[in-house]
Amino acid sequence: MPFQELTVRTRSRTELVDITAQVQKLIQENRVESGLLTLFVPHTTAALTINENADRSVQQDILAELNRLIPFTGSYQHTEGNSAAHIKSTITGPSQTIFIEGGRLALGTWQGVFFCEFDGPRTRKVWVKIVPD
Ligand code: ZN
Repeated sequence: MPFQELTVRTRSRTELVDITAQVQKLIQENRVESGLLTLFVPHTTAALTINENADRSVQQDILAELNRLIPFTGSYQHTEGNSAAHIKSTITGPSQTIFIEGGRLALGTWQGVFFCEFDGPRTRKVWVKIVPD
């Protein structure tokens, strides 16, 4: 099965976008009951993470602390002006792998899949590879 692509439109400079439903829909469209799903972000200033999607304040705290730890301006060498976004991207990481069981993402009760925007707003891509059993 070739990889598929999701589009994510971000609205802020930094933002966590819950893409769990979009990913789940892809599994249903492909009629996969069991297997592995890998997500990959082909960008150097964005990332993927899995964390709580029940209480929105968790997402706000994650973003606020990342922005505090890695400020937008600093003694950076990169002249494009978005070094903070590159650093946040590399810390968070470009990919996630999740099991598919019973036609659904095997996530913990409180977990969701988030696209992490660190240099928005932009239109972004997430590549998805589904490997059925
Ligand atoms: Zn750059």
